[in-house]
Amino acid sequence: MTRATSHLLFILLLVVGVAAAGAHDDAAVRRTLEEFAGFPASDDGEGPSAAFRVDAEGLQRQIDELASFSDSPAPSVTRVLYSDKDVQARRYIKGIMNQLGLAVREDAVGNIFGRWEGSEAELGAVGTGSHVDAIPFSGKYDGVVGVLGALEAISLLKRSGFQPKRSLEVIMFTSEEPTRFGISCLGSRLMAGIEELTQSLRNVVDNQNVSFLDAAESAGYKMDPEDLRSVFLNKDSYSAFVELHIEQGPILEKEGIPIGIVTAIAAPASITVEFEGNGGHAGAVLMPARNDAGLAAAELALAVEKHVLESGSIDTVGTVGILQLHPGAINSIPSKSHLEIDVRDIDEKRRNDVIEKVRRSATEISKNRGVVLSEFKIINQDPPALSGKSVVDAMEFAAKQLNLEYKKMISRAYHDSLFMARVSPMGMIFIPCYKGYSHKPKEYASPEDMSNGVKVLALTMAKLSLD
Ligand SMILES: [Zn+2]
Repeated sequence: MTRATSHLLFILLLVVGVAAAGAHDDAAVRRTLEEFAGFPASDDGEGPSAAFRVDAEGLQRQIDELASFSDSPAPSVTRVLYSDKDVQARRYIKGIMNQLGLAVREDAVGNIFGRWEGSEAELGAVGTGSHVDAIPFSGKYDGVVGVLGALEAISLLKRSGFQPKRSLEVIMFTSEEPTRFGISCLGSRLMAGIEELTQSLRNVVDNQNVSFLDAAESAGYKMDPEDLRSVFLNKDSYSAFVELHIEQGPILEKEGIPIGIVTAIAAPASITVEFEGNGGHAGAVLMPARNDAGLAAAELALAVEKHVLESGSIDTVGTVGILQLHPGAINSIPSKSHLEIDVRDIDEKRRNDVIEKVRRSATEISKNRGVVLSEFKIINQDPPALSGKSVVDAMEFAAKQLNLEYKKMISRAYHDSLFMARVSPMGMIFIPCYKGYSHKPKEYASPEDMSNGVKVLALTMAKLSLD
């Protein structure tokens, strides 16, 4: 028996609350395992040490199958909220939940829940899960690893004979990506009970002018606008929530560390800004007579960078991802400019200070350049989230028991966990992804890294289930 295997057996004993006195005695371990697991324990590849092995091939097969529900050709994946492919993917996930014997339900907007009832089902459940929607021409691992991987973690615990005390629940969140209606983390945001969202969902339309409510109905979720509030979660629905996700950054791969334990999620704020000037002919209007809306935008873009750097923290980031000029001709002075600015930090006040400075700069620039600041609109300004201590402790415990090196880190991308943090202690497990690629067809996580993530998730949930 290898050292890793005996560690595993040890934790298995621990999570079922069996006295671990004999943990270093292989024979005693086997006997105890037989008692609780109900299958013969042996080292011939058939015993519990074999049982606590992730079905990496099966998981990869499911990921590949799910990726085939796509509106763009492989290897890219495009799966937009309430499209036919999204509906097919939902059916696929519910099918696996049913196969695992989970109790499956859906809420009004199509968040899907698969519950493994614990022996004390009245207690708050331990939740896990992620999303399977995919932005146009992206990859097959973002979100998916946290749904199919979570289902494999449940299967793994079932195979090992584990009995949960608190119920374990896998959630497939509706529309983490903002692709169709411009609202990110739609499902989890609503679950967090954000009242204003019920208003926006009544009115919002996609770029084909299809309303959210009509789109939902076409996917089988016919609802009265009043039903939106039924998605809100009670504060005691979950005792903990933990999401498995690819890192979407290069750190773990570069450092050769298999597991990232997320201690905080930086939250984005997005702002749109518009300047208007007089425009004019690029040859005829002399420099002193100009009020160039394009230069005002350029100056503001540099101001964003300056204010972000002034924060003094490496965790503050700001991006001008969109800068459009009107009319967009080489011989025409821009009469209008449009910027979209993303600012993130794990410190809410520091981030909001940056936004305030950007606002002051925009006003100042408009005065100095004689242009009109026709819009300065904060689209969203979400608070960041800190992971719950109980969840971080459980994740560390699991990684240690599995002998897996880990690194505590910050998630600079947002996830459904950002909103689950409002209703439950939250944590995230990151696994490495190839070159940090994400949101593109080359996105890749190795079967070994996924297996490690699934095992850490399984043990974390097992531990939290018994708390
Ligand atoms: Zn994701």
